[in-house]
Amino acid sequence: MLVDSHCHLDSIKNYSLSDKVLPITVGYSHSSNLKTLEIAKKLKIPFVLGISPQAAQKEGIEKLDEWAEWIKSANPKPNAIGEIGLDYHWAKTKEDKEKQHSVFENMIELAEEMQLPIVIHARDAITELLNILKERKFSNGIMMHFFSGNEEEAKRAADIGGSVSIVPLHSKIRRKVINAIELEYLLVETDAPAVVRLPEDVEKSVQYISEVKNLDFSVVAEQTTRNAKKFFRF
Ligand SMILES: [Zn+2]
Repeated sequence: MLVDSHCHLDSIKNYSLSDKVLPITVGYSHSSNLKTLEIAKKLKIPFVLGISPQAAQKEGIEKLDEWAEWIKSANPKPNAIGEIGLDYHWAKTKEDKEKQHSVFENMIELAEEMQLPIVIHARDAITELLNILKERKFSNGIMMHFFSGNEEEAKRAADIGGSVSIVPLHSKIRRKVINAIELEYLLVETDAPAVVRLPEDVEKSVQYISEVKNLDFSVVAEQTTRNAKKFFRF
């Protein structure tokens, strides 16, 4: 079985599980977290709860403590905190950036308190974000979701114990990243329905890695599933 390490089932209508792919469904705002917990309970699948930088900016942070408390009391407990991070593509002002920072810090503290790994969303801010995690010596596990950085940034993430997650979108930079990172630190995801329509398309990420690394599909499939199980602890 393949694992789609990052998708949003709360945005996919009438999704039903197949025996091919185990999806890990991820929240990004308080309202998305509420739905994500319900879906995960119903389907009995691993899940991730958190407040993303985009949500922080859009919805404000007045209720942040309340939202974090809700995540802390979620039953069952999530497998990770995410997606969280920094997105400077959407942060136009200093105020926007500060808002994103305070939410990110709050979510890292939550992950530390709950002893959970984190799922990172980083755009145009990878170096800054990795520096924050390095300084804090965050050690519960880091997944760089939809990794869009270059080879150097991927290596820096791996240096602090981070795993790099690959979407099925081909590019020169992504190919170099796949080549630079050992299979043990790679995860596969769809970010469905954003990148591709369904979690079942995660086989395209597996295919992509197997082509670039010149490995059998089954080798990549087995190892990325093992990596996901280890990271999300299921
Ligand atoms: Zn996502």
